[in-house]
Amino acid sequence: CKRAKSTGSVEIYQSGEATAVRRRFSIETELRRALENARLELAYQPLVDLASNRVTGFEALARWSHPEEGMISPAEFIPVAEESGLIVPLGRWAMETAVRQLAEWDEAAGSALPLSMAVNLSAIQLTRDDVPTMVAETLARHGVAGRRLVVELTESAIVHDPERAARVLGQLKALDCAIAMDDFGTGHSNLAYLQKLPIDVLKIDRSFITGMLTDRDKVAIVRAVLGLANALGMRTTAEGIEAVELAHTLSALGCSHGQGYYFGRPMSADEAMACFRAFNG
Ligand code: C2E
Ligand code: MG
Ligand code: MG
Ligand code: MG
Repeated sequence: CKRAKSTGSVEIYQSGEATAVRRRFSIETELRRALENARLELAYQPLVDLASNRVTGFEALARWSHPEEGMISPAEFIPVAEESGLIVPLGRWAMETAVRQLAEWDEAAGSALPLSMAVNLSAIQLTRDDVPTMVAETLARHGVAGRRLVVELTESAIVHDPERAARVLGQLKALDCAIAMDDFGTGHSNLAYLQKLPIDVLKIDRSFITGMLTDRDKVAIVRAVLGLANALGMRTTAEGIEAVELAHTLSALGCSHGQGYYFGRPMSADEAMACFRAFNG
């Protein structure tokens, strides 16, 4: 801000903060509008079985193309959605859109494809008791079996209210959904949760995977996490695989699944089906 620059550093700081607040507010207003006017989209990123090199599912990731500003990252708008409560309708929209997409792929193929759909659930959504009902109704509306849905949550979702989390996860398990612990290793992990909660998949955060091949400490951490997950009977997904060597190393270490730009970036529904066919023949 030009005016603030001439009046000293305190002003610059305050002005910068005011700009951030304004941006946050405009994002909230425009996100609400984008949601109402169906201007959000989902992109689908392949999840790959490392042993067979087959696509076993896709993760649905929200995309917002702003008319003036272009793509706004979910890393920016999801936190705003969480603070403003918009994450509840946004989360409902994401679940509806992802499950409907899976049903459309099935219909186009003429039968249920061997694919799961992973949908991110915010910690804020988990504080609401109506999430299992919302999920059940969405699955029923589209005739999709619960076992084909993976619900991804972060550690913060559980730490905030472990008892409620246990209850909601139990209800999602009763629908036959799988539960994935997202970004594992970055939150306030309490290893006891891994044992107590019905977690099916551990997703090892990208920060441990990136640069792993030249960092013995990262390999040690990844090896330990894989050992723990395997001992507890969980599947494992390594996030952020950008090179073939990483895929091979992780597979050799006992990691069952991978996700990352090496296999495919988040893409449109049509591209995702082409990707599925290319991998799975
Ligand atoms: P996430 O759930 O951990 O999703 C994985 C993120 O890593 C995605 O970022 C994906 O594009 C990125 N990624 C995947 N492979 C690679 C790779 O090889 N290299 C690099 N550098 N990045 C990779 P994205 O799409 O920007 O989403 C960021 C986060 O926003 C997600 O992290 C998730 O926490 C949140 N998010 C996105 N969509 C939704 C949604 O519908 N609901 C909720 N609650 N959160 C969402
Ligand atoms: Mg995720
Ligand atoms: Mg993740
Ligand atoms: Mg992550």
